[in-house]
Amino acid sequence: MLINKLFDTAIVGGGVAGTSLLFTLARYTDLKNLILFEKYDEVSQLNSNPKANSQTLHVGDIESNYTYEKAKIVKKNSSMVANYIQNFDEVGESGFKGDKMLLAVGEDEIAQLKSRYEVFKELYPYLELWDEEFLREFEPKLMEGRDEPVLAMGARGQITTVNYKNLSESFVQHALDTDKNVQMRYHEEVTKIERDVDGYYKITTDTTMFRAKSVVVNAGAYSLLFAHSMGYGKEYAILPIGGSFFFTKEKLLNAKVYTMQNPKLPFAAIHADPDCTKDWNTRFGPTAFALPKLERYHTLHLKDFMSALNIDKDVTKVYMSLFKDKTIRRYILRNVLEEIPLIGKKIFVKDARKVIPSLHVNDLTFATGYGGMRPQIIDKKKQELLLGEAKIVEDGVIFNMTPSPGATSSLAIALNDTLSLCKHLGATFESAKHESEIQSLRHTSLFEEILEESR
Ligand SMILES: Cc1cc2nc3c(=O)[nH]c(=O)nc-3n(C[C@H](O)[C@H](O)[C@H](O)COP(=O)(O)OP(=O)(O)OC[C@H]3O[C@@H](n4cnc5c(N)ncnc54)[C@H](O)[C@@H]3O)c2cc1C
Repeated sequence: MLINKLFDTAIVGGGVAGTSLLFTLARYTDLKNLILFEKYDEVSQLNSNPKANSQTLHVGDIESNYTYEKAKIVKKNSSMVANYIQNFDEVGESGFKGDKMLLAVGEDEIAQLKSRYEVFKELYPYLELWDEEFLREFEPKLMEGRDEPVLAMGARGQITTVNYKNLSESFVQHALDTDKNVQMRYHEEVTKIERDVDGYYKITTDTTMFRAKSVVVNAGAYSLLFAHSMGYGKEYAILPIGGSFFFTKEKLLNAKVYTMQNPKLPFAAIHADPDCTKDWNTRFGPTAFALPKLERYHTLHLKDFMSALNIDKDVTKVYMSLFKDKTIRRYILRNVLEEIPLIGKKIFVKDARKVIPSLHVNDLTFATGYGGMRPQIIDKKKQELLLGEAKIVEDGVIFNMTPSPGATSSLAIALNDTLSLCKHLGATFESAKHESEIQSLRHTSLFEEILEESR
């Protein structure tokens, strides 16, 4: 088997996580030899594809499942993607400006929304409260046929939607545009990663063998399987949660509309999003249901699946405690039923009416070919389901598992990993350049602003 030259860093996985790391390493460090392996023939064919996710830049302003502390982190993380989109002229290509809101329905939710607004307006000074009169004009479909009182907290003209595949392609292009040796290996599946006697890593693919001083595995659910194969991360297991969507037959809303979270439920409440792959048609979802797959719409490899589940008494306890709760049990059952053809949308429409009360079941179609798999992590030691990202860092090897809002946080995760790799490899990180291009908005001249407004 052919052994290639020694790379500084090898990245496994060409989703938004892998490509944002490639970009950060190539543009802001002095590492010269970088390689990325992607088993499909293009970047972002799985969860980072716009058909797989909700295309939201999660800023934390309208997501009521985030606490203030979590929102502060999400705001900082998302700003890197927003800055990239603006500084690298990606507005209209991978990032799109629009309006968004968090909708409260009924007196209880309205009271909660008002108190949330008082606290969160400090973090997001641009937020506005929108009453029924405003909403009737702004988004008429929200008000048509509505009996219950509503109030919304919203924002206008923000980067709301991101096509994370386009973003990944932009990351790759900017990495290739540097003077580094950046190799993209498409259609090349990594089958094994091993530590060599000299402390470097051997990366075996279906055709070749490569060597690297460091490895970052950004391979979705497979990140944990690689970690396990190297004896790491045994305290984690994966609960693969599928998410599906429903389209309305025509575009009904202009803004992203999120709803208030039921604090008992582990996954985000239903929302409606204008879809950038469907002429901004309204897409409802995602649903959340356990699915025996690691990759949606791809063949199930039973051995991998069983190994990701990593079932033992600790994992079983987490499942039991989820099922013990009546609200969660009903939620799980409802989400499973929503997947069944014909009856699915009859059940789903009842949830969707929280957003558009006049919605008829015939207005909805199951979004065939849309949806993804969230590799939710179970921490076996703590016996709990983790809702955010998880990372395993060992000597020169990093494994990332990135359920939502992993795409939003991609550049922040990449920064973290870059700093860790620079330390490990004794490389230099150009922090001033990164700060001006990613951590802040480039100064736009008055001329550019006027030009932008006139477009
Ligand atoms: C229904 C749903 C809605 C979501 N909505 C949002 C949202 O609105 N906003 C948001 O920020 N996040 C959202 N997310 C989460 C977001 O999609 C993920 O956090 C993000 O896409 C993860 O990126 P990734 O690069 O880690 O994984 P992926 O995009 O899945 O990429 C992993 C890559 O690794 C490759 N790979 C795997 N194994 C190998 C191997 N052995 N060799 C080579 N390559 C390999 C795969 O082919 C794939 O390209 C959502 C997720 C779901 C499921």
